[in-house]
Amino acid sequence: MRILIVEDEKALADIIKKGLIEEGYAVDVAYNGEDGLFMAENEPSDLIVLDIILPIIDGTTILKRIRKAGVKTPVLMLTAKDTIMDKVSGLDSGADDYLTKPFLFEELLARIRALLRRNSEVKTSSVEVGDLIINMATHEVKRGGKDILLSAREYALLEYMALNRNKALSRALLTEHIYNEDFDLDSNIIDVFINRIRNKIDRGFNVKLIHTVRGAGYMLKV
Ligand code: CA
Repeated sequence: MRILIVEDEKALADIIKKGLIEEGYAVDVAYNGEDGLFMAENEPSDLIVLDIILPIIDGTTILKRIRKAGVKTPVLMLTAKDTIMDKVSGLDSGADDYLTKPFLFEELLARIRALLRRNSEVKTSSVEVGDLIINMATHEVKRGGKDILLSAREYALLEYMALNRNKALSRALLTEHIYNEDFDLDSNIIDVFINRIRNKIDRGFNVKLIHTVRGAGYMLKV
């Protein structure tokens, strides 16, 4: 899952970024409203954390513009003031949730998980694909009752595929939603990760869950 943070307080933005990367998310950061608007419209984000008071273009304006442009990405707004007017105007502009500063990182993380779940077909903290169970709160993965150990990146890839199960996902799309790095990665790296995950979740099982879709990419399905 790829998250865009639009926050001009660099120290806060960097703490959030570091924490989210440790949780396995790919993270982009914009430190002003102009960059934030551009990235919100052009980067393939799964969620946007948007501060209200920003240089150049404020958060409420960014939100109105991206919603008008048809961007449906869930938006979690950050506000310094816990006032009713701020909440009303933000929710009117199309925000999905609110968090008042200062907040604990754990609370931000819980809100982010809730919004990502709300936006996917999966409504609980665990996703099941056949006998594969992925607990998104603890990152524990089991197949047929057996614990499966995955690296942070393998987990991130599998979770993204599980949240988009039964859909063919291209290597380019998977790369965009898993990697932090901005440079163009060789998307064949995805093949390497898919092979590792296959070895861990499919080997020894009659029913394979990871399918290669010719000319399209990969799909997780029963
Ligand atoms: Ca600010």
